[in-house]
Amino acid sequence: MSATNSPDRHSFLSVPVDDVTYNETLLWIENTIQNKELCQICTVNPEFVITAQNQPEFLSVLQQASLCLPDGQGLLWAARLHRLPLRQRVAGSTLVDLIAKRASSKQLKLFFLGAGPGVAKLAAENLRSKYPGLSKINTMEGSPSIVDAPSIIQYVRESNPDILLVAFGAPAQDLWINQHCKELGVPICMGVGGAFDFISGRTKRAPAIVQRLGFEWLHRLWAQPWRWKRMLALPLFVWKIVSNRHSVTKTNLGN
Ligand code: UDP
Repeated sequence: MSATNSPDRHSFLSVPVDDVTYNETLLWIENTIQNKELCQICTVNPEFVITAQNQPEFLSVLQQASLCLPDGQGLLWAARLHRLPLRQRVAGSTLVDLIAKRASSKQLKLFFLGAGPGVAKLAAENLRSKYPGLSKINTMEGSPSIVDAPSIIQYVRESNPDILLVAFGAPAQDLWINQHCKELGVPICMGVGGAFDFISGRTKRAPAIVQRLGFEWLHRLWAQPWRWKRMLALPLFVWKIVSNRHSVTKTNLGN
């Protein structure tokens, strides 16, 4: 895929997932900013797929998104089972780091929205120490609640970033971006889940070897056992993918 092409897109139980790599995603982001388009990126994982089965509004937002990244090892396994290519997991947390690196060399402006008290600010400070060329990152705690929207939109518009990263957790962050995308006027808006928690150091990410082996989700369950209820989506995802021959299909051939 070049920066101007559309990636191959698969459907996982009607949820789109694009066959992109980190490099292609970064190129696509730069191209979108240059073209002054307004695009939403979603970081899809098996939990997204299961949630979307019961929330038509969330499914519709994912289907409208310009790019749906394969941010979940389960998607890669499911694609392999159905003999469809999905070359690389594109993890939101890793991508945020790479976006910061690219932003420092290309003079792009970032805005971090959401996460717990002080978390986005700390994540921004950590990235600025790592990539000294990075311009100041404005941050705001906020929430997806309707009463917070006007002040968030005003501050984001004043800051005029190229990329807005939103950590309200899924599906709230993705619904919020979809609802406010036009008023925000930011070329790239992306939901990043727990990325700021990891980058700030508040939550430890799985060791690199565990990530490479595809078991980051298991480490997350071990580190944050309160997630067990949400993670019941994983066996359900496996069952739905294995029991239905048409659960994963190719929806375009790219161009
Ligand atoms: N979060 C927030 N406001 C909310 C709900 C969540 O700022 O109303 C933040 C939360 O503090 C965390 C991030 O959203 O930093 C992602 O939450 P979670 O880990 O549940 O998301 P996931 O990575 O599982 O999508």
